[in-house]
Amino acid sequence: EIADTPLVVRGLRKTYGDGFVAVDGVDFTVERGQVVGLLGPNGAGKTTSLRTLMGLLQPTEGEMRVFGHKVTPGAPVLSRLGALVEGPGLLPHLSGMDNLKLYWRSTGRPESEAEFDTVVRIADLGDRIHRKVRKYSHGMKQRIAIAQAMLGLPELLVLDEPTDGLDPPQIAEMRRVLHDYASDGRAVLVSSHLLAEVEQTCTHVVVMSRGRVVGKGEVKDVIGSGGRLEDAFLEL
Ligand code: ATP
Repeated sequence: EIADTPLVVRGLRKTYGDGFVAVDGVDFTVERGQVVGLLGPNGAGKTTSLRTLMGLLQPTEGEMRVFGHKVTPGAPVLSRLGALVEGPGLLPHLSGMDNLKLYWRSTGRPESEAEFDTVVRIADLGDRIHRKVRKYSHGMKQRIAIAQAMLGLPELLVLDEPTDGLDPPQIAEMRRVLHDYASDGRAVLVSSHLLAEVEQTCTHVVVMSRGRVVGKGEVKDVIGSGGRLEDAFLEL
């Protein structure tokens, strides 16, 4: 049922002012329990899709529904949606924990120790959370930023290129973090331009090319063992 589905995208189309069609009739669904990768090379239309989902852009045609609610610019942001679209804006002289708390205060929502504990556990930050951010690796900064998006435990978590610049062990950790997050009936949508990263971190994939969806489904069916869609992606 649509009211219980984290994300339903139907016939999404976005034309920019100059007439350029960035997103051209996109359909896909994100179900609870799934970690979905929105995969495509630069210019495929991923960022345009995510910005529309954030209510930053008005679609030219079609719609995005989050738990049945149509996303429109100007409407209040749904509390069931949590997103990280830009890179981490962290204060280097504060600890990771203080950054999290400060961020949460800025949202004006009540603080819950239990919620903080859950996010710190899922994001697997360990004792490092009490160290100053300026001493963090890129991967650790990325994890704090993702923890910010997880605060409030939104049922749909949206992350723009969360594995960008991470090394293989950090990508493996990211997989665990995202799967743990989604395993509790929540869902995650991540964008990526790297096939291998989606293969390693996601359960499902939506492959975009030049504004269109050229393949979607379970990662194991869509990617790997010389599949047709992998070939399509590699040819781009
Ligand atoms: P990237 O990984 O580089 O962000 P992407 O898949 O996210 O790529 P988009 O950023 O959505 O792709 O861009 C899709 C296409 O739309 C690109 O060709 C881009 O040049 C074009 N585009 C994006 N924003 C605008 C704009 N404001 N006006 C005109 N064209 C735009």
